[in-house]
Amino acid sequence: MSDHSPLNEFESVRPPEEDRYHPDRIEKIASFYPEILQALGENPQRDGLLKTPERVAKALQFLTHGYDLDPAAVLKSAMFEEDYSQMVVVKDIEVFSMCEHHMLPFFGKAHVAYIPNGRIVGLSKIPRVVDIFARRLQVQERLTNEIKDCIQETLEPTGVAVVIECKHLCMAMRGVQKQNSVTTTSAFTGNFVNDRTRSEFLRLISSNLS
Ligand SMILES: [Zn+2]
Repeated sequence: MSDHSPLNEFESVRPPEEDRYHPDRIEKIASFYPEILQALGENPQRDGLLKTPERVAKALQFLTHGYDLDPAAVLKSAMFEEDYSQMVVVKDIEVFSMCEHHMLPFFGKAHVAYIPNGRIVGLSKIPRVVDIFARRLQVQERLTNEIKDCIQETLEPTGVAVVIECKHLCMAMRGVQKQNSVTTTSAFTGNFVNDRTRSEFLRLISSNLS
């Protein structure tokens, strides 16, 4: 991460646009790909592959753009004093991330809850925090903990719960080829360590309102 340039506060909360993001980095990443294609037995000069290095570099840049964003700043940009102390649950948040061991995607759903302690946060900010941590090279376990810690430390609620369910292409497409297995991870703080509160959260995320 050391070659990532510092960003101002505005840039650190703004979602990126794929095509105009850090041209210098895209050029550098792209420069390695003709050799990689050749090592795979391909001809990097054939028509279909000519622009592939640049396309791969842009895709990789987009899929890891979370390094440039500050999730705590996103939460702080929409925190409000509010006297509400019931559980707030945001469920079925789409997750797209990349496993750091194989640089292959894993994807699925995240469910996040917190119990406010005098402060709430704009609801759209919770999925943004999930996305910022997901758009980095990850393992699902750390992703779960980072989301929990960020909300706990920034919002200081009386409890945070995070459950993530994902399919990993590194399992489905290679190796053991367990094509339909889903990995579930969870992390809890504060009141959610209590059985009754945690059960209520788990019941809420498994119920279907539609
Ligand atoms: Zn993997």
